[in-house]
Amino acid sequence: MDKYDLLSDKASCFMNPNQIDENLEKALKLSKDSLYIKDIITKAYDKKGLSPIEATALLLNQDENVTSSILDIAQKLKQEFYGNRIVLFAPLYLSNYCINSCTYCPYHIDNKTMPRKKMSQEEIIKEVIALQDMGHKRLALELGEDPVHNPIEYVLESIDTIYGIRHKSGVIRRVNVNIAATTIENYKKLHDAKIGTYILFQETYNKKNYEQLHPKGPKSDYAYHTEAMDRAIKGGLEDVGLGVLFGLHNYAYEFMGLLMHADHLEKTYKAGPHTISVPRLKPASTIDISSFKNALPDDIFLKIIALLRISVPYTGLIISTRETSQIRTKALELGISQISGGSKTSVGGYSSKIEPDNAQFEISDNRTLDEIVYWLMENNHIPSFCTSCYGNNRQGVEFMDLCKSQQIAKFCTPNAILTLKEYLDNYASPKTKQKGEAFLKKELAKLNIIKQKEIENRISIQKNTNEVKFF
Ligand code: SAM
Repeated sequence: MDKYDLLSDKASCFMNPNQIDENLEKALKLSKDSLYIKDIITKAYDKKGLSPIEATALLLNQDENVTSSILDIAQKLKQEFYGNRIVLFAPLYLSNYCINSCTYCPYHIDNKTMPRKKMSQEEIIKEVIALQDMGHKRLALELGEDPVHNPIEYVLESIDTIYGIRHKSGVIRRVNVNIAATTIENYKKLHDAKIGTYILFQETYNKKNYEQLHPKGPKSDYAYHTEAMDRAIKGGLEDVGLGVLFGLHNYAYEFMGLLMHADHLEKTYKAGPHTISVPRLKPASTIDISSFKNALPDDIFLKIIALLRISVPYTGLIISTRETSQIRTKALELGISQISGGSKTSVGGYSSKIEPDNAQFEISDNRTLDEIVYWLMENNHIPSFCTSCYGNNRQGVEFMDLCKSQQIAKFCTPNAILTLKEYLDNYASPKTKQKGEAFLKKELAKLNIIKQKEIENRISIQKNTNEVKFF
């Protein structure tokens, strides 16, 4: 077997199974050493991040006082690095054709009851207009893997279509993409198509379990899947998004794997993951989730979010509508920086009156985007439709450097205010608009007078041009 090598681009080296086991053993031992835990808590306050072993030792520690310190530090770091803005996006399912056999996903090839659907470009335009009418500016494209129905040319054509749609006062400003692991050449094409983040969930870092969960199809190749981010970066994609599907394997193993992966990207390419998503397994057609024995309880889920915030302070954390509004409310305090809102997981779900019977999984937060915007403000978060980093070359290493030096909030807060104003003027219900105008005044007043004037000036230009003047 290959030896562990953090800087190698081979999964058998940077995600070496023996090394994961060894790290877990160390972390478990250290989790019981109260002096060590105390030191790590002190280190966490330094805001420089934690190593995978340090973070996992905290995760495995059972002391309630330690947990409450972790939650407290996460809240502080969240505020200091990102301020109180929360970025909003929506998933857009283009096609559910899939030739893989993921045993947890209803798109699996053997599911003959799932109606298959691939949207035409005309249908995509209708879906995107429906999303724009809600107020969305940032989308995440979702597709099953199928070289015949969903070749890269289809993905590229769809991205082009989406960026080209001009509807009322809006355009989609950032298209992120979640497609199966592919070649460097295809990643180059996605880069040239100007996508935002390339997102790919690892599902599980445990190789043996991964192979059982993906018995056939191209996704069954653990190494090819795990090395995807290395290829994406080599293809020019600077922002990559990691994630595991919690519930498939032991959570401590997944947490260790996730942080080892982040560490590998950071040390090898000088920029860690742009985002980490924390999906949990959900009920879905033909999927009996009670047969998966690793369900992640809410309290540990929230501790994991807090520990991710502390361990990789420079990485955006994403929570989807797989979670209830109650869990999302708590998660936002602990470090989440991006959420989806008003989501549908079906192909064609936004523009059709009755949702098509092809949803990928059940959603637990069914509120409209307007309700989500209202709720965020009620909880003192600025709903943000900002896509400025992407347009201003603050990506990859540049973004990380700004984030590490705590400079990013200087852009995030004013841009969140500008885009919230854009939302209120063009898309909000009267109730949300009324709340929003008062909320914006309060948020503006927190800034220094020069910044306030600058923002007010940009808002008046924005009103005339219908275009946000980002910082
Ligand atoms: N085809 C791409 C791939 O293979 O990575 C995109 C897959 S899918 C559209 C996006 C994600 O949905 C998957 O990576 C998986 O983690 C998640 N997913 C699949 N089944 C799920 C379920 N039952 N509950 C929650 N999430 C699920």
